Amino acid sequence: MASTLRAFAPSFNRSPSRAFSIKTQMDSFARNSDAHSSTSKPREPPITLQEWQGWGSTSPVPTMVTEIIEELKVLEKNIDAQMSFGGTGGKLQGYFKTLEDKKHRATYQALGSSEQKLQFFSARQIACRLLGSQDYLCQKCWLPFEDCMCSRVKHCSLWHGARFWLYMHPKDFLRQNNTGKLLLQVFGVEATTLCLYGISEHEEIMWNAFKSAGKSKVCCLYPNKNATSKGVQEAFTSELSTKLENPQQMTDGDGILNFILIDGTWSNSAAMFNRLKEQAISVWGEDIPCISLATGSSAMHKLRPQPSWDRTCTAAAAASLLFELQLVPKFSSVGLEKQGEALEDALEVLLEALTARRIRMGRSITRKVRHASSFC
Ligand SMILES: [Zn+2]
Repeated sequence: MASTLRAFAPSFNRSPSRAFSIKTQMDSFARNSDAHSSTSKPREPPITLQEWQGWGSTSPVPTMVTEIIEELKVLEKNIDAQMSFGGTGGKLQGYFKTLEDKKHRATYQALGSSEQKLQFFSARQIACRLLGSQDYLCQKCWLPFEDCMCSRVKHCSLWHGARFWLYMHPKDFLRQNNTGKLLLQVFGVEATTLCLYGISEHEEIMWNAFKSAGKSKVCCLYPNKNATSKGVQEAFTSELSTKLENPQQMTDGDGILNFILIDGTWSNSAAMFNRLKEQAISVWGEDIPCISLATGSSAMHKLRPQPSWDRTCTAAAAASLLFELQLVPKFSSVGLEKQGEALEDALEVLLEALTARRIRMGRSITRKVRHASSFC
């Protein structure tokens, strides 16, 4: 692990390979009912700031994501084959996929460090998801336009003394059954910041905010009780809360509590948590403060391809956190229960929308096994 976030400098080979500059036809017909093609209209830049931020990020477009989208478009032009995506939107298909797979695997193998590999992996995942979701998914609810649920999701202001950091795995970005996005929808980007794992710009923004907030105002929601995590009651009636005597008078930048939610499947979450731990040690010389919940599992679990941590989806975990915080006397008057309920209501709306979609498409509404794949 690099000792500073600045050390995450990308330096992969950007030269389009001559081997792929062949003219050919591809069979890009849709393989299933979810398949669709990207538009081949020339775009400049490859992704605009407006489009990028429309998906829920408040950052500039990450440099490496822009570079990979540009590379994919160069490859598309060189082989005269249109990119097509299928499945959940971020998976390349057909002949283009075959060529692109070889190319990106060669790039990946040539990278020197695990840090560079992670950054390339994350940026490529995100680039594919962005391209596969253009003109297909609603930017707010991440569902196909015909299933957009936005009109049924109610906005609710989060208590100004708390902020969520949605630390999301790239494979969960723009996923229809992702529940972390509900925090962006319900509380807005003013109270929830999307931080994509392995995207250096995002992680830098998050850690800069944590550095200025101070370690006592940062905690990660950890799935299981262990030696380093505390229960909510224990954490907020002890040292973490010593400067929060009057929560209603808190203003921006003044003792705001930063809650990190790890938004990934079980297997991905372990690596994400380790990265947080390593960064906390490099910044503070100590482990990241953790809290764990006393409650919860969620109906959403049934629709997840893999169980999330503690069999609890991200939105349900955030709602449970708000309910448990409500029980801490000093937080009892800031409306956390209502805010947790708003999140649960949105979860219900998402579950209904996903169920209706699956029934309409003739699919099972229970979990289905997916094949693990390193790349989209
Ligand atoms: Zn929508």
